Amino acid sequence: MSLDFHWRLGLWHLMLVLLAFLIFGPGTETVVFASVVLVVAAVLVLRLRTQLIAPLSKLSAAVRSATGGSGRLPSIFRGARVIEDLSKNLGEWSDNVHERLKDTSDARRRLESILDAMVEGVLVFGSDERIILSNEGVLRLMEGPRDLIGKTCLEVFRNESLDLAVRDTFRGKHADTVQFQTGSGRVVRALLSPVIGEDETGVEAVVTVFHDLTDIQQADRMRRDFVANVSHEFKTPLTSIRGYAETIMSETGNESQKEFARIIHRNGRYLESLVNDVLVLARIESEQSLALESLDLHSLIDEQISIFRRLPAAESMTIEVDCPEIEMRADRGRLRTALGNLIDNAIRYNRPGGEIRVTARRDNSYVAITVSDSGFGIHDEELPRIFERFYRVDKARTRDSGGTGLGLAIAKHAVESHRGVLGVESTVGSGSTFTIRLPANM
Ligand code: ADP
Repeated sequence: MSLDFHWRLGLWHLMLVLLAFLIFGPGTETVVFASVVLVVAAVLVLRLRTQLIAPLSKLSAAVRSATGGSGRLPSIFRGARVIEDLSKNLGEWSDNVHERLKDTSDARRRLESILDAMVEGVLVFGSDERIILSNEGVLRLMEGPRDLIGKTCLEVFRNESLDLAVRDTFRGKHADTVQFQTGSGRVVRALLSPVIGEDETGVEAVVTVFHDLTDIQQADRMRRDFVANVSHEFKTPLTSIRGYAETIMSETGNESQKEFARIIHRNGRYLESLVNDVLVLARIESEQSLALESLDLHSLIDEQISIFRRLPAAESMTIEVDCPEIEMRADRGRLRTALGNLIDNAIRYNRPGGEIRVTARRDNSYVAITVSDSGFGIHDEELPRIFERFYRVDKARTRDSGGTGLGLAIAKHAVESHRGVLGVESTVGSGSTFTIRLPANM
């Protein structure tokens, strides 16, 4: 009970005695009245102290110690009914809060164990774009400080495109993957996804999952190098097999020997085309960056047409070109390969005397090059598969025409490396149209 309260009680007592003095004047009544008031006040103070003030101050001390300690309030405090109810309710409430806190910390521990068991690195950025959660996987990808909480993306990875992607994801832009190299030389792909707030007002966190691609890329490079080396080794013996087969074919011998030599020669040529296509594919796959240059599309198309016009199968065909002057930036070698394969197919899968039309157009964002033919066409169910490696619609016919099943896979790869798209439309019996769409500004 505070001193202030005692003073106020004393003041009230004095005022009542003064009132009694004014009403009754000095005498016995005033003394009796003053004594009664004093006794009543003393009883009141005593009851207040035992029933309210003491239990309240105990409760307050208990709340204070629970806040800094276990979070739980001790059992009920004896005192006035209202105090007992209050302490009971507070006790239940503190048990409730304690249980919830325990659940939350259990869930957090479980989440941390799961995150640490993951091979992938995980970082979660809070609304202030600083890290609020990380796992062991991230630490394996980077050098530098181990405690990442509170740091920004740039402080941890020192990579501007990743930092920009995190910021873009917070601003609602869809920047889903970023590939980059860490300071320790590891190649990492980051997958970013926004966490939308409950009220759907905006992005409240960004979860970033990091995949270490270093080993996969190394294994892939070794596989490509192996394929390229083996294919290269095949070249010389194949040339000599073909050469000897030609010699036997041209020299006098019996007919069956010449027929055998023709078969060896044909298969040797097929193997040579296969080796060449495998080497082209391996080269396109292994070259990381494009050798971009300014080129005149019209003359590149003309150059390819004049090469393929020399094929015996093209002699009876009509080849038309419709291309205005188009100046664009592209990797000349890759574009040449893609276009060459499409024109080659348009000739090989055409009927004798058929037509081929090559067009090119430019709009603001794209350059579209089409190669149409009046050939056999392709069934709808085959269309999605023709870009797969070694996929051939009619194996016998393709093999006879010298096809390896790699031409369209190479063309697709060459176009996609320009961030372009290779598409096809076809009607069986009428012909096919292949379209290369490339970004106009590279
Ligand atoms: P290939 O070197 O065997 O021609 P491609 O990858 O170039 O291999 O083509 C795959 C398959 O797609 C071919 O086997 C062929 O059946 C079909 N194809 C490709 N271009 C055409 C076309 N212009 N007309 C009809 N079929 C085609």
